[in-house]
Amino acid sequence: MSRATQDAPRLAPETLLKYEAVIGLEVHAQLQTRTKVFCGCSTRFGDPPNTNTCPVCLGLPGALPVLNRRALELAMRTALALNCEIQPRSRFARKNYFYPDLPKGYQISMYELPLATCGSLGIEIEGRRTRIGITRVHMEDDAGKSLHDGFADSDRWSYIDFNRCGVPLIEIVSEPDLRTPAEAYAYLNTLKQVLLYTEVSDCNMEEGSLRCDANVSVRLRGALKFGTKAEVKNLNSFRFLSHALEYEIERQIGVLESGGAVTQETRLWNVADGRTEPMRSKEFAHDYRYFPEPDLLPVTVSEAMIAGVRSRMPELPAAKAERFLRDYQITSYDAGVLTATRSLADYFETTVKAGAPAKSAANWISVELLRRLKDAGGDIAESPLNPANLAELLKRVESGEITAASGKRVFARMFETGRTASAVIAEEGLAQINDSAAVEKIAREVIAKNPDNVAKFRAGNEGVFKFFVGQVMRETRGQANPQLVNEILRRVLA
Ligand SMILES: [Zn+2]
Repeated sequence: MSRATQDAPRLAPETLLKYEAVIGLEVHAQLQTRTKVFCGCSTRFGDPPNTNTCPVCLGLPGALPVLNRRALELAMRTALALNCEIQPRSRFARKNYFYPDLPKGYQISMYELPLATCGSLGIEIEGRRTRIGITRVHMEDDAGKSLHDGFADSDRWSYIDFNRCGVPLIEIVSEPDLRTPAEAYAYLNTLKQVLLYTEVSDCNMEEGSLRCDANVSVRLRGALKFGTKAEVKNLNSFRFLSHALEYEIERQIGVLESGGAVTQETRLWNVADGRTEPMRSKEFAHDYRYFPEPDLLPVTVSEAMIAGVRSRMPELPAAKAERFLRDYQITSYDAGVLTATRSLADYFETTVKAGAPAKSAANWISVELLRRLKDAGGDIAESPLNPANLAELLKRVESGEITAASGKRVFARMFETGRTASAVIAEEGLAQINDSAAVEKIAREVIAKNPDNVAKFRAGNEGVFKFFVGQVMRETRGQANPQLVNEILRRVLA
């Protein structure tokens, strides 16, 4: 048994149901720029330690930062995608604290004048749609990275890599509108989808491009006042987010139920032990002593700049799903599946443009293709079938040249070999049998073999007809044109 299961407070379901959680998320995303936010150093991940540094991002005396315009544009794009009001004037501030991976001795972040405020993000949970408020979106620079493990002398020394120093981040702060871990999960997932669609961030959680902290409190159901919140840090995967929130909610309810009071504090999700635990309070007690950054001008954003960013904004996932519903008459479920990523949505639309009927393209992609890709552990970019090849196959099924059953076999071969539909159909001899004489010969054989059923049919048992159709289809490995089979059987049996 893991420590997590031993230590988790165990409360009766009816006790848990008395309470409601109130959750707000603070998400940090790395902006997808080539260079850092205040200098020209590369942001490339995985370069040798301390090779992407300069006097500006190392905070050497006299070095002056200059705001990266691309980073500002991406932050504005995020703000617009989240329905925020971009402020005409925002300002960077110094957030002072000492940590070895912060050579400047302060982080540059927007504080009292953030870039954007008052937004919202629509999420869907179990078919129910709701909007989560976005308090603010602001820009900041990242700190370096302390390396505490992995070296022969890690028991005595820590190492520091300053490559991350000055990498551009946006922080997206939600209102405390989330009520369950599942809602928090859906919110983070939808936010990630928007950041990927808009190409603001690659959202790679393993590389630290997307990070999440949560503010959590609980209150009796129906109470209006918020309870005392704890901030839970280090929720750097979707799984950690769900587990940490579940743990923390139950922990706080346990404290209240036993007559205690929740302490306002910062807690860390301990991955190994599966529990949240308080950070050592002295070491992390912050008084950031914010003050306006004297080396940077306030950020002024004109209406024209906002219009420019808006004009370059790609279609967002929710709008795309609505358009798919409208233009292609596919189901709402399929529209959701097909717009999960921009590349999947593009794949679908390219297939339709190449001549495939939209409904069958939606169906084949969301069922056959995604299932096989999942089994093969790849995503749509690695599909062995390109949209043109899939469209060719679907056109042949639609026109009746091959049956739907053969289509699935052809599809499987195309997926395995990467060959075109026509090559596979020719190779496997799967073309639909439209030759009346050939079908009639098989039909007569089937009838001759089943005199009892012929007698039943002639006595008025219409149900037996399906038996004959099935037998003919079986004899032709499903390749006979079903309509032709019907016609011939009717004629011969009469
Ligand atoms: Zn630099």
